[in-house]
Amino acid sequence: MRIEEIVSTTKAQRVAAHSHVKGLGLDDDGSAKPSASGLVGQINAREAAGVVVDLIRAKKLAGRAVLLAGPPGSGKTAIALAVSHELGSKIPFCPMVGSEVFSSEVKKTEVLMENFRRAIGLRIKEVKEVYEGEVLELTPYEGDNPVGYAKAIQHVEVSLKTAKGVRKLKLDPTIYESMQKEHVNIGDVIYIESNTGAVRRMGRCDVYATEFDLEAEEYVPLPKGDVHKKKEIVQDVSLHDLDIANARPQGGNDIVAMLGAMTRPKKTEITEKLRKEIDKMVDRYIDQGIAELVPGVLFIDEIQMLDLECFTYLHRALESQISPIVILASNRGTCEVRGTDGIQSPHGLPMDLLNRILIIRTEPYTAEDMAQILKIRADVENVQLDPAALQSLVETGVSASLRYAVQLITPAKFHAEVQGTDTVQSDSIDMMRGLFLDAKQSSRILAEKSDVYMK
Ligand code: ATP
Repeated sequence: MRIEEIVSTTKAQRVAAHSHVKGLGLDDDGSAKPSASGLVGQINAREAAGVVVDLIRAKKLAGRAVLLAGPPGSGKTAIALAVSHELGSKIPFCPMVGSEVFSSEVKKTEVLMENFRRAIGLRIKEVKEVYEGEVLELTPYEGDNPVGYAKAIQHVEVSLKTAKGVRKLKLDPTIYESMQKEHVNIGDVIYIESNTGAVRRMGRCDVYATEFDLEAEEYVPLPKGDVHKKKEIVQDVSLHDLDIANARPQGGNDIVAMLGAMTRPKKTEITEKLRKEIDKMVDRYIDQGIAELVPGVLFIDEIQMLDLECFTYLHRALESQISPIVILASNRGTCEVRGTDGIQSPHGLPMDLLNRILIIRTEPYTAEDMAQILKIRADVENVQLDPAALQSLVETGVSASLRYAVQLITPAKFHAEVQGTDTVQSDSIDMMRGLFLDAKQSSRILAEKSDVYMK
């Protein structure tokens, strides 16, 4: 049996805007570098977040949470993501907004529970058999010809791993042609997918292969030169991924079948009973040493949108044995705790929760910080900005918001391309500012023309 490759249900698009953030960018002594690991400025907040990372590592944050308090667009999400990167590369990061819990179909606490389970990872280790022997030959060519070709004995499905990425192709015994067409180079890694997970390694060219017997519909090791080896395959999933797989029909009742079921699209409701099944199974796998839990980071923005019922749930969840690191964010001062009779509290959080929280403040950005952040984003999005265009974006960031300015970069690039230039000039930025509204403009227009819009 093998664990299928699955696409995790992490909310990828929400994290995409922060893809340049790789960590907190701190020195060994914990002080923040002006710009490092994708983060710029916000020195105090980053250093405080560094202390939080130390506390988490020392297991001293259990039962508590962190609150990032500061104006919109001051990098709260970016810092929370950086904390998760500092904790490890495969740590789940689950961002959500407080208002998400209000849905007509799903209970508020159900939405919270789902996000908690998205933020708890499970690392599953599987040992596979590896065969070593000669299956393919690679021979160098010169001139315009491909520099290599391979020979296989039977029908095989091959993945070619090259510097450009992985290409899949089906090969039959006319493999010479196929490989020539694919321009396989010496040094390319070739391995053959098999449902037993068997991998065959070729001598001098780093070529991996196994042989596939179509008739028998199973993979068979080649007769000569076989050296059996054990290889550990590691896969990271979240508890929520497993919940979804288990809720699908024909999910099977072991972890491997369930992972296979993730590729099937049909979705049914995840019930408490199904979650308990997963918990039991996870416990069993942990006891057997096959899997380990990896607590990730749950980031809840606009925390003041939650109500008392949600806070009670949150409180309890923080105390449970397996809990992710919870990072809350708020841009409000003192406001009403929702679901109470007008009780006012800092950030709209009930006092008992506030008592368990470490608060980190984020400050509004200076124009220089914004310029650096915008430059980093332009680089990541492969956009060249003329100095005047950058200046225009910074002004947009200062007068509207950094988020709005960042969002104009890619549309402005399209405009520049239509104009036949590679570098974005300030007229492209101005054009996009005219076409797209920032949130403040949009709400002002709606308010001014409220009589023509539906209420
Ligand atoms: P908040 O959560 O406070 O509203 P945010 O983290 O969501 O802020 P945005 O307003 O969306 O930030 O920020 C716009 C863009 O700027 C995002 O791509 C974000 O990653 C980036 N950004 C924000 N702060 C920093 C920073 N200190 N260093 C580098 N990039 C940043």
